[in-house]
Amino acid sequence: MNVKENLHITSQELMKTGSPDAKLEAEVLLRHVLKIDRATMFRDLEENLSEDNVTNIASLVNRRIQKEPLAYITGIKEFYGLMFEVSEGVLIPRPETELLVETAITKAKLLKKNEINIVDVGTGSGAIAVSLAVNIPNSNVIAIDLSKSALEIADENRRTHGMYSRIKLRLGNLLEPVTENIDILVSNPPYIRKDRLHSLQEEVLKEPMLALDGGEDGLRLIAELLTQARERMDSTSIILFEIDSDQGIEASKISKNTFPLGDVTVLKDLNNDDRAVLIELNTSI
Ligand code: GLN
Repeated sequence: MNVKENLHITSQELMKTGSPDAKLEAEVLLRHVLKIDRATMFRDLEENLSEDNVTNIASLVNRRIQKEPLAYITGIKEFYGLMFEVSEGVLIPRPETELLVETAITKAKLLKKNEINIVDVGTGSGAIAVSLAVNIPNSNVIAIDLSKSALEIADENRRTHGMYSRIKLRLGNLLEPVTENIDILVSNPPYIRKDRLHSLQEEVLKEPMLALDGGEDGLRLIAELLTQARERMDSTSIILFEIDSDQGIEASKISKNTFPLGDVTVLKDLNNDDRAVLIELNTSI
């Protein structure tokens, strides 16, 4: 069987399970096994595959059919133009979350500080922390997670991107491991409402519950995080956290109650859904 035939068979199989990206996923799985880039794959369409390779591709296709997320099978995911290692121990970085990174980078410049202390709560793979450290050169980042196995992945990722000395990892709950003054607090916390958990896609349910379950109303951890943040935010600083598309009103209410002097804005993602809350604090004037 040659590369082209294999791609055809694999995409047919993946299509049967309802994947809208069957063709692309077939390419990714084949390239992962052969360890080749896209250009090489197209050059070698007529090349024959060894039996071993055919078997290996088939077993990955099987895992995919069982709804294992593609990123867990390949072990990598792109986020904000950077490649991140991922595993079952961490949430797979989502494109919507790039909104947090983009906003934090823009706001960091406006803070006009020589050094910026960033804290990322619930860092998971470290995708947000690393993207911020790479793109905000005058920053130091503290990345926190409750999960030890998540911090191991975050450690790999900060090293791969040369950010070892700029990102400190701490194990703990929300802001408990932080005593420093914070300029930018960012978080993609678990925010899925309890009653919505069971209706998530089968693939999403393969991700850590700890990264998804936001309790009864999905906002419990956010409320707790904001309360803890009150004593730790610098007088001129920002807070940015991700929310579900139906949490905009409630989350901004909690934000205004906790920070009556802050400017609260709900930000929309590329689908025009509410996706993040920005709190700008300036109590020095
Ligand atoms: N955005 C993720 C999802 O809908 C949830 C991530 C989170 O809870 N922080 O699957």
